[in-house]
Amino acid sequence: MAEQKGGTQFTLFFIQRFKGKVLFNVPMSAHTSLNIGGSADVMAFPQDEADLKDLIQFAEAKGFQFYIIGAGTNLLVRDNGIRGIVINMTEGFNGITWLDKTKAVVGAGVKLSQLLNGCKERGLGGLEFACGIPGTVGGGVAMNAGAYGGEMKDVVDGVEIAGKKGQRGFLSKTELNFSYRRAEMPRGAVIVRAHMSFVSRTPEEIGEKIKEFRERRKASAQITSPSAGSIFKNPEGLSAGKLIEEAGFKGMRLGGAKVSEAHANYIVNDDGAKAKDVLTLMAEIRDKVYAKTGVLLEPEIKVLGED
Ligand SMILES: Cc1cc2nc3c(=O)[nH]c(=O)nc-3n(C[C@H](O)[C@H](O)[C@H](O)COP(=O)(O)OP(=O)(O)OC[C@H]3O[C@@H](n4cnc5c(N)ncnc54)[C@H](O)[C@@H]3O)c2cc1C
Repeated sequence: MAEQKGGTQFTLFFIQRFKGKVLFNVPMSAHTSLNIGGSADVMAFPQDEADLKDLIQFAEAKGFQFYIIGAGTNLLVRDNGIRGIVINMTEGFNGITWLDKTKAVVGAGVKLSQLLNGCKERGLGGLEFACGIPGTVGGGVAMNAGAYGGEMKDVVDGVEIAGKKGQRGFLSKTELNFSYRRAEMPRGAVIVRAHMSFVSRTPEEIGEKIKEFRERRKASAQITSPSAGSIFKNPEGLSAGKLIEEAGFKGMRLGGAKVSEAHANYIVNDDGAKAKDVLTLMAEIRDKVYAKTGVLLEPEIKVLGED
């Protein structure tokens, strides 16, 4: 990309202005929990808001596409990778500011597990559902991640964002208009921090809930191979896993991709899977489940990049 679009300015920007780390030709398989994906032209790790703003404005001015990622645990990157800049939020936005008794402002790059530990130490409940969800706070809000009856929307009051032109903004919970695995945000908006509210609970109560959810997770799915969590959303009132299992896909393999034996709504990278294997398997599942039941499964994972 640098060569094609007058790379000198591009390189100069990163040398002269950008404070964070920059990687070129980055295999996305190393930055996604599925361990799949071709290379991204550039991956930049903004260190702070000024870095993020500069980067967005630079990309906008030069016509480079940019994509935001957190921990990459809900992503499938296609085999020819990503043309443009991947903005990785996991290195610069790692702070948690605890406010009064039950509130916190949390950087987008903070892992949900780290936040949950902090909540437990302080006797703050409400986030226990997130135990076992391996993503970041930014990714969690963007996806309205949830489990066991809890969702991010239950603990998020609003988010600080960088807009499409790098400008600062704030979206309240109402504006985020959360729904199942979705938050509404203006196109290109990057979550920088989340304002969150918890409820007072003893560390013992929190520990008990976490233990219960861990056991339930273990009982429903012991996934050891690389995955991106649930592949399809649960249709209203139904279980995607059950529909997929009843359509006969449990354990089915295509190339290196396999429908998990432990939970049919997980496709795992069993042996050097390509994105094409996963996408073909997903299409077969969707078509067969639709033909059999009339239910059209919708992907939960986000698919990025080029074939
Ligand atoms: C083993 C396993 C178990 C899982 N269990 C669950 C579960 O129980 N419930 C559940 O809901 N999910 C689950 N997931 C999926 C995943 O962990 C969640 O969706 C998580 O919230 C994704 O966070 P992330 O940081 O990895 O986001 P990424 O995968 O990096 O990105 C996901 C989406 O969020 C966007 N995004 C990320 N950060 C930002 C930001 N700062 N600003 C704007 N947009 C952003 C990306 O552009 C992308 O569209 C599981 C995944 C795995 C691998």
